[in-house]
Amino acid sequence: MLTRRPHVAGTEANTETAEYVKSILTSNKIKSHTVSYDVALTYPASRSLTLTPEPGHPPIVFDLRQEIYNGDLYADVANEVMMTFHGFGKTGTVEAPVTYANYGRVEDFAMLKEMGVKVSGTIVLARYGKIFRGDIVDNAYAAGAIGTLIYTDRKDYGGGGKDAGWFPDAKWMPPTGVQVGSVYSEAGDPTTPGWPSTEGCERRAYEEAEKLGVVPFIPSLPISGADGETIISSLGGRLANDDWQGSKDAPTYRVGPGPGVVNLSYNATKTIATIHNIIGVIEGSDEPDRFVLLGNHRDAWTFGAADPNSGTAALLEVAQRLARLQKKGWKPRRTIIFCSWDAEEYGLIGSTEWVEDNREALKSKAVAYLNVDVAVCNEGFTASATPQLDELLKWTTKQVKDPKNTSQTVYDSWASSSGSPQVERLGGGGSDYSAFVQHIGVPSVDMSYRVGGYPVYHSMYDDFTWMEKFGDPMFHRHVAVASIWGFLALQLADSEILPFNYLSYAEELQKSAKELEDDISNKTTLAPLHKSVDALTKSATKINNEINAIEEDIQQASPRKKDFARARAINDRLMMAERAFTDPEGLSGRPWYKHLVYAPSKHNDYGSKSFPGIDDAIENAKTLDTAEAWQSVQHEIWRVSRAIKQVAQVLSGEL
Ligand code: GLU
Ligand code: CA
Ligand code: ZN
Ligand code: ZN
Repeated sequence: MLTRRPHVAGTEANTETAEYVKSILTSNKIKSHTVSYDVALTYPASRSLTLTPEPGHPPIVFDLRQEIYNGDLYADVANEVMMTFHGFGKTGTVEAPVTYANYGRVEDFAMLKEMGVKVSGTIVLARYGKIFRGDIVDNAYAAGAIGTLIYTDRKDYGGGGKDAGWFPDAKWMPPTGVQVGSVYSEAGDPTTPGWPSTEGCERRAYEEAEKLGVVPFIPSLPISGADGETIISSLGGRLANDDWQGSKDAPTYRVGPGPGVVNLSYNATKTIATIHNIIGVIEGSDEPDRFVLLGNHRDAWTFGAADPNSGTAALLEVAQRLARLQKKGWKPRRTIIFCSWDAEEYGLIGSTEWVEDNREALKSKAVAYLNVDVAVCNEGFTASATPQLDELLKWTTKQVKDPKNTSQTVYDSWASSSGSPQVERLGGGGSDYSAFVQHIGVPSVDMSYRVGGYPVYHSMYDDFTWMEKFGDPMFHRHVAVASIWGFLALQLADSEILPFNYLSYAEELQKSAKELEDDISNKTTLAPLHKSVDALTKSATKINNEINAIEEDIQQASPRKKDFARARAINDRLMMAERAFTDPEGLSGRPWYKHLVYAPSKHNDYGSKSFPGIDDAIENAKTLDTAEAWQSVQHEIWRVSRAIKQVAQVLSGEL
């Protein structure tokens, strides 16, 4: 039902999926409502791409369409797939010789500079796969490029070469397959920074966002592996390094610029579209004003079988199971809220607008946010969390059977890849936890069977057939994710005392602080940071002791009423401690990002950065090497230290 048609945000087809999700929740007696926002989106109006391989040669005109495969279950709706484009891509026509820039990272452009290759005035051709595509465009712009093409190299997405075959015969991306996606690196509607996009609200002009560089300054297009290779073949100049080359049977890669000259033209339709979040509520019995939220986005670039509707299927499964429990008379202690987000793909828009809309209520009532985007696209389980949830997350994966080897648990297989399971950090901007963690400081989790990604990501081949044949043929991994997700929610909703451990947080911060030691000069000191982390360790130990005491009392069944107030007081400290990592002013130059400990890396929106403010300041100081610049590093160290001290104070419960 969810993946029958392409359902991009703002389209009729996606309104249908909203109604479907709502109907499932409602039929399971979960009170649901639609929360709509009017947000800026862009759709492709037209685009074209030609290549003149060498002067005098007639131009090659690229078709740019993804081939519809034979016997496609979706043949009748394939024409509904939007033409390939970059969400929030810049409108314009550019013509210039091409430079090849590997994965488009900062270090790739540094390498080109070192090789003496002049990127300025050229069109950059980069391949997908290492960083967020919006950062590829931004890095190209910073190097002086006037346009960007991003292609899917078969080395990364094609199984290494032609022999591997491709979908529908194999899991690999077909030669004409294109990864579409957003090139906007911030969160939420770019025309309502920090406030909700409610009907008739204040709005800055889209052109204002363009002027500020919130969306890219230069036009870009995503292209297929086949087209990327054709363009690469037109390049001369220096030989690209070994690790810049393609698969074994690919032509030799040179970096240019030229002689191949590309004409890239893209026209966006800018619009204000109405998007729909579905919110379903199971009210808590004892603490209805404390929220445990489960969220997943529903909008997809095409059919979205993996991204994101494997997650939507899991969400609905959890809802149905909790409905069964309700039938047996169960009620959660705290309120459980199901969130089906819209317009994640454009830049986490549905979730961000909702968080901005309900900011103060969520800050005072949200206990935790549990995100699943892609539930399954391969066999590798991965999970991220704010550190006070590490222990609960690990414990929960020990309760769920491994879908492949049922004699062990998800924990065992997760651990076997790395010795002990590595809980990743939620700094990146890759999915809908961003507003919860980075804007308002809500403890969060994100999980998925997705280590290493999947070849047909964001292409028209991310459909039910691909999932059934290659992604998760028996849907057992879908079930595993639903099980962990639901069980996490139950622990958080029903435990008398919230299952948070801030000692993990303190340990993690200590590690991150140590990592800074090599980076700071002798002009600065980390002493305040170490001192604040010590204070956090002390408070975390104190509250853990209090929790142990209260849990003993609970077992000895002391009078309920007294326990309630005592538990509530402890729980409020546990809940509010994470908020104290946020600062009203946010990161310098990135004011929406309030969390001083975790943020997306500046040069890769998918990456997580600890102490982002300190890190940014160090980067700046290393370039400038002035006393003033190092003073800013010290200032940032102080800011983080003060925030951590606030956290310690909230946890300790003392003034
Ligand atoms: N998850 C989407 C993507 O990877 C959106 C990420 C973002 O805009 O930050 O393209
Ligand atoms: Ca907004
Ligand atoms: Zn997604
Ligand atoms: Zn996506």
